[in-house]
Amino acid sequence: MLPLNENLSTMTLSGIRRFTSLAAQTPGCISLALGEPDFPTPEPIQAAAKAALEENLTHYAPNRGLPELCREISRYETGLGYDCTPNQVIVTAGATEALYVALMGVVNPGDEVIVPTPAYPLYRSILTAAGAVMVSMPTREDGFQLTKERLSACITEKTRAILLNSPNNPTGAVYTRESLEAVASLVSGKPIWVVWDGVYNQLSEGTVPELAPFRDLREQLLLCRSFSKPYAMTGWRLGYLMGPEQAMERLLLLHAALVAAMPTFLQKAAVTALHTDVSDMVESYTRRRAYVCQRLDEMGLSYPKPEGAFYIYPEIASFGLSDEEFCTRLIQEAGVALVPGSCFEDKGHVRLSCCCSQSALETGLDRLEAFLKAL
Ligand code: PMP
Repeated sequence: MLPLNENLSTMTLSGIRRFTSLAAQTPGCISLALGEPDFPTPEPIQAAAKAALEENLTHYAPNRGLPELCREISRYETGLGYDCTPNQVIVTAGATEALYVALMGVVNPGDEVIVPTPAYPLYRSILTAAGAVMVSMPTREDGFQLTKERLSACITEKTRAILLNSPNNPTGAVYTRESLEAVASLVSGKPIWVVWDGVYNQLSEGTVPELAPFRDLREQLLLCRSFSKPYAMTGWRLGYLMGPEQAMERLLLLHAALVAAMPTFLQKAAVTALHTDVSDMVESYTRRRAYVCQRLDEMGLSYPKPEGAFYIYPEIASFGLSDEEFCTRLIQEAGVALVPGSCFEDKGHVRLSCCCSQSALETGLDRLEAFLKAL
């Protein structure tokens, strides 16, 4: 093979897919591994896309996004405490591209980016592609929260960004106001970007504290969101990136070079999504989370209190197996798939996703319980 970009030699595909594939190849296996809504995209959103196609909205949109959608997004975010203009928005190919543009756009090779772990595997992939250094900041000993002590110990002259995700994948934890104050007090006014991955903000029981209301951080904040999870639109590949206007003008160059613009008729449907009530789905995840927690309590497993997203992250270290062994045997011997913490640069925990029917959850948890008893 002819030489390729050297950064590609150290990139790997997410381990999550390895476990979901193993589950798919195992007859009768119940997968509690996949982090994607089991609901169809709400009908009004689908109808809006079909109508847009019939109106022949099939040509290029402006790079930034349909003006109507950028306006709706800025209205929505203003409602959440981030008063902003449509010029601060770029509509992206999911939060995946938003994160790519944000990180690629702010780092130079060798720059350091602090990432609390456990962490969504995409972060390392993007940072590797960018030639940046991911500085892992373990949060397990701090109850999966952020502390000033641990964060300040990670900050160096080379720190270019901090990447935060709340509600968190894989822990389901929501950063408290104290955690956010720790970040703000350490980085505001410094040449450090804060990239906020807020893809699960609507999937929580209460309001998720965010950094946008911290005025002092405004000029340093890059916000990534997605239509994937709240509106059950993972396959539509729609998300957005927001930040200070001047920086967004520059980051738009990267987005324009990557995808030019997102499909016009999909963006039209995204406007409808922002007006769609998703409380039924949110309530369903909340009910499922409560059920899983009750079952895990009965099994004597401990886990950080999940307050958002659709994940629960029980500890399994006491069973004497590595998290990878635990998950492999669980699939092979009990027919249930979970994702090992090692896929998120952690260990001793497994991620359980509530994206399945109540009956699949019940059977999956019965099987997990029997597996634990037999260990
Ligand atoms: N961030 C986190 C924390 C995620 O869990 C995901 C999807 N699993 C993404 C970003 C990417 O989402 P999207 O489908 O919008 O690209």
